[in-house]
Amino acid sequence: MGGSDIIHLMVKTERASLIERISEVYKRVSHAAMRAGRDPSEVKVIAVTKTIPAEQIMEAVEAGIRIIGENRVQEARQKILALKDTIPPTVQWHMIGHLQKNKVRPALQMFELIHSLDSMELAERINRIAAEYGKVQRCLIQVKLSDEETKYGIRPEYLEAMLNRVSEMQNIRVEGLMTIPPYLEDPEMVRPYFRRLRRLRDELQERGYQLPELSMGMSGDYEVAVEEGATIVRIGTAIFGPRRYG
Ligand SMILES: *Cc1c(COP(=O)(O)O)cnc(C)c1O
Repeated sequence: MGGSDIIHLMVKTERASLIERISEVYKRVSHAAMRAGRDPSEVKVIAVTKTIPAEQIMEAVEAGIRIIGENRVQEARQKILALKDTIPPTVQWHMIGHLQKNKVRPALQMFELIHSLDSMELAERINRIAAEYGKVQRCLIQVKLSDEETKYGIRPEYLEAMLNRVSEMQNIRVEGLMTIPPYLEDPEMVRPYFRRLRRLRDELQERGYQLPELSMGMSGDYEVAVEEGATIVRIGTAIFGPRRYG
């Protein structure tokens, strides 16, 4: 076997394992949904591609991924440009990281769904710029359930006030809630956070807000999140392997 054959084989093996990892994620999502008496098709898998190069994103798309999550506008823009001629137009890009106010304009041109609406100021800015573009920007409100979490997010006690004000904005549509619980080794320790987000959502729905989407669960805990009602799980490491940075 020549050198190029070996390289070819290595590439093939790597691709096979990416496909295997993705099918493993889909399988575990399905099983978790069925354990909870849910329809597995209610749950969308986002491949989180921060630090992952465009070629590997394309392989994930070839393996069936339809939603890509990025946490930085600049990084996303480069990859979207690199893939614009090859990626099917049905593939969606979602913003899952904190959105700086000076990045709203490019973000609105790239992202189908922003998971990280985390302040009234950001909502006002998104609404204003979306109006300029004649777009209704779909968003999820990021909820901060504890002090150990990332610094961003709306505290539960302010959620309804925010929903009230955002519901008057013509160019934003809030479709649900998102949370990033503190990192804990044992996924069972994270379960109460997921349950809390779902209950918050349920209470708000009883009061008339339409919040079908729950974005919760990452590589270490997505099965628990699906058992607790996640409709979107955000998976990086379990699909692409450990990240070198980020
Ligand atoms: C990086 C990231 C993820 C994915 O994390 P993994 O543990 O690698 O699956 C999910 N959500 C957000 C907001 C992230 O920044």
